[in-house]
Amino acid sequence: MGIDYYNCEICNEIFSDVGYCGFCGKCEAYLCGHCLDKMREKNGEIGEDHENAGDYGEDAPNGCDICDGSVIDEVSFINFLTEKIGKTRSELEEEYRNRNASASK
Ligand SMILES: [Zn+2]
Ligand SMILES: [Zn+2]
Repeated sequence: MGIDYYNCEICNEIFSDVGYCGFCGKCEAYLCGHCLDKMREKNGEIGEDHENAGDYGEDAPNGCDICDGSVIDEVSFINFLTEKIGKTRSELEEEYRNRNASASK
């Protein structure tokens, strides 16, 4: 049986899925046990009537620092930025590389 390792989406700590960990009941972020407890304390539990209770358990936190905006997920932020700018990520990467190239001349 293999053990999978994940990065906590809030604190970036690496945890294994055999240890204590869980999902945010709201945005489905995968959290280490430490953050899971903290978010549960801060936002309460989703409760048994919640639509996600079957998937994540009724004691999953009802929100976390990611869905309330305290912590911004870098990947979705980059997606948001590229959308705002109206260029694709690879176009921007190209510009970034060129910028570096001309700066080192
Ligand atoms: Zn964490
Ligand atoms: Zn969340």
